[in-house]
This record gives sequence, C-alpha cells and structure tokens, in this order.
Amino acid sequence: MTFEARIAQPQTVTRWPAVVTMDGPAGSGKSTIGARVAHQLGYLFFDSGILYRALTWLALRQGIGLSDGATLVAVAERMDVVVRPATQADGRPYTVEVDGEDITWDLRRPEVDVNVSEVSKHAGVRAALIPQQRRIAAEGGLVMVGRDIGTVVLPDAPLKIYLDAALEVRARRRLAEQRARGRPATYRAILDDMRRRDQIDGGREVAPMKPAADAILIDTTTMTIDQVVEYVLGLIEQGRRRHMQD
Ligand code: C5P
Repeated sequence: MTFEARIAQPQTVTRWPAVVTMDGPAGSGKSTIGARVAHQLGYLFFDSGILYRALTWLALRQGIGLSDGATLVAVAERMDVVVRPATQADGRPYTVEVDGEDITWDLRRPEVDVNVSEVSKHAGVRAALIPQQRRIAAEGGLVMVGRDIGTVVLPDAPLKIYLDAALEVRARRRLAEQRARGRPATYRAILDDMRRRDQIDGGREVAPMKPAADAILIDTTTMTIDQVVEYVLGLIEQGRRRHMQD
C-alpha cells in the first residue's frame, strides 16, 4: 500500500488533534465531509474503504469465492495499492491503482458495492489491512474515514466522529451522486444495497461498524454538508483551546 500524499508530506504533526477518525455507514457524508475537514486543517484525507473495495474487485476478477477467507487474506497481503493525486480530470478525488492498473472508478461499480461487505467481514482480511492503515496514520496530520477506525484501527485517536443519517436520506444522496456521474441507478437498488451492507457491517463479529465509546455522534439527516463541516471544525477549535489551557 502506497499513499503518495503521505510520502510527499512526511512531517510529524504535533498539533491537536494529530488524527481525526470519521466512521459511519454509506451515505452518511464521511468522504465528502472528511475530505473538506482535512483540506481546511491542511491535513491528508484517507478513505479506508478503498482497501476493502480494491480487494473485492481483485477477488471478483480472479474468481475467488467470497467465503474463501484464506485466499482473500493472501491476496490482501500481496496486492499493491497506490493512492495518488488525481491523474485525470474526470471528477475523481484521487487515483487508485492496484498492481499498476487504474481502478479508481471500478471500485465504485455495483458488483463491488454488492460484495464488499462479505469480503470485509473476514477476520484475517481485516488483520491484514490494519497495519497498512496504521502506517498511514502514524505521523498524524490525517483524517481517516471508515467503519472501525475509531474503535479498532486507531483507538487512541484524540478526536473521533461518528456520522449517521436516516437510510432513505443516505440512499437519496448516493442516487444524486450516481446520476451526477451519468451512472444508471435506481433509488430502490441503492436503498436495498445500503440496508444490506448496514446489516452485514454492523452485525459482523470482528470490528463491527459502531461508534467508539468516546466518539462524537452527528446525525446529518437534516444538515447540509457545509453545516456538518462547520460543526466539526467548531469541535476542533474548541478542543484546541482546551488543549492550550492544559
Ligand atoms: O466506505 P465504503 O462504502 O467505501 O466502504 C465499503 C465497504 O468496505 C463497507 O461497506 C465495509 O464493508 C468495508 N469497510 C470496512 N471497514 C472500513 C471501511 C470499509 O469494513 N474501515
């Protein structure tokens, strides 16, 4: 796993909070808000879902059974994922390459959406991907989004956010996103996929999706992106002031 932005900006960040974790279900706003908050702070943004999606895409292409945990772990350990600044101006926030191939948009295919939760529930797969995520976060100055970042990957993170929103609202957001990209999509299919993924991600034995005990919960159902970003930046401002007093 190579995260080029980290290589370009390797300095250790000592400012509070060294790391911000942002967890929550699909469509809760993690990626958009996480990226905006990171930008405002001058931090890097990393979406851990990329790793699970890349593995799912490889498994589908190689015809690996999604219940074949041992083979999935072997692929997870071997796959060479590179995340670099966008190499094309086609609306992508960054470019993802796996084993040298640009799979940025493939990661968002419906077949990846449908199968990714089955792949991510294997304990061995998660164990293989955790060190890669921790390495990226080690120097700080990063907002990392996912499902288990505050609970398992970075349990000592100084600021943890958990975003949620009503399922129907999350599905509408995803539909609008897909349509804006010119993708054929229906509300029903998106809603059903999200509901199923919520159940698998939230119900799995290892690292289920849930807020960390010390996470700040934000329900974004009736909030705009700007409002959530403002709110999170306000939390950071308050925390920084508290830290300066201590
Ligand atoms: O966030 P995104 O929708 O891209 O995540 C895709 C899937 O990857 C999730 O539904 C979940 O199964 C898995 N995932 C995970 N742990 C993370 C990030 C993503 O299990 N930290």
